Amino acid sequence: MAAYVAGLQEKPFRAQQLLQWVHQRGITDIAQMSDLAKTFRRVLADHAGVITLPVIQDQKASDGTRKWLLDVGAGNAIEMVYIPEDDRGTLCISSQAGCAVNCRFCSTGHQGFARNLTSGEIISQLWFAEHHLRNDPTAVRRLDTEADAEHVNRVISNVVFMGMGEPFLNYDAVLTALRLMLDDHAYGLSRRRVTVSTSGVVPMIDRLAQDCPVALAVSLHAPNDALRNDLVPLNLKYPLKELIAACDRYLPFAPRDFITFEYCMLDGVNDQDGHAQELIQLLRGLKCKLNLIPFNPFPESGLKRSSPERVKRFAAILQDAQMVATVRKTRGDDIAAACGQLAGDVIDRTSRVKWVDKVDKQV
Ligand code: SAH
Ligand code: SF4
Repeated sequence: MAAYVAGLQEKPFRAQQLLQWVHQRGITDIAQMSDLAKTFRRVLADHAGVITLPVIQDQKASDGTRKWLLDVGAGNAIEMVYIPEDDRGTLCISSQAGCAVNCRFCSTGHQGFARNLTSGEIISQLWFAEHHLRNDPTAVRRLDTEADAEHVNRVISNVVFMGMGEPFLNYDAVLTALRLMLDDHAYGLSRRRVTVSTSGVVPMIDRLAQDCPVALAVSLHAPNDALRNDLVPLNLKYPLKELIAACDRYLPFAPRDFITFEYCMLDGVNDQDGHAQELIQLLRGLKCKLNLIPFNPFPESGLKRSSPERVKRFAAILQDAQMVATVRKTRGDDIAAACGQLAGDVIDRTSRVKWVDKVDKQV
């Protein structure tokens, strides 16, 4: 933004003012940006515009979870989910249209990869949800005592990259969006409350540690390479030993002193007592929390959700070994807003590409 305004012969602080108008205040009409000189506003209006993504669908679940389907052009749509809780408002956003990693249990993966989102399309999701929900009296307000007056009415306190796509296969755009999320002139979110979730793109874990360390979640789903190769094909490229070592290297930079591991519980596949024992060995000595996710089934997967008793038993084995393991609550079930269901019928299935081609090109 600073480079952009410099190109229009304006001082760098104009960039901050513009960020505040657009991201803090949600103003799209340049004429209303009253602390900018009228001549600059006219020049800006000739050169620029605030463009947002068209909403295709807007659904609200009985538990307050909200899901939007946004149009990103050429028959592609992305999904975004807002999850209100007592003391926080979490927005789950997408980083790509589709995903090339093709995990067996993920419906986004089954649709293949369409394209990377731009940094604008990524931040646009937060922009839309924040400013839309500010006008919704039922939305939870952000409880952040350190926030300045400009931030007090904020709704979104947490952002998670757990929608469609693998954020580390769209690194540059995700990084720009992350920096805007943290910037006090934009959203001023805490690093501890912004989480990147990855299926395990090892080199990018190291880059994030240097560029913009935020909370890290790693989608594990299996305690050994043979099983993980089958469930998360990216494991063939970055096996568990390398992945766990990268997590260990990230910890000194992490804003929270642990890594979150996500583990989707699949009936008879990765949910047996022996798998829990293997996990204990694998993660020994690493500061982490395990988040057990009840699988959200979809027909093409051929997989089933583990029974609640099995999940409980699995968690108990981990807890007996002094590991922190929690079971994720499912939210928004009645509008298919739960993890892995972030797929619309509008997605163009002809754009499906096999993960091997794409992942190799992208990493
Ligand atoms: N690509 C990234 C982030 C998006 S997926 C990643 O894989 O981490 C966000 C989370 O939802 C991941 O942990 C993923 O494994 C999980 N998930 C995907 N499909 C799911 C399903 N059908 N049921 C439950 N969780 C699922
Ligand atoms: Fe992609 Fe994540 Fe789904 Fe795997 S779980 S296919 S990495 S979105």
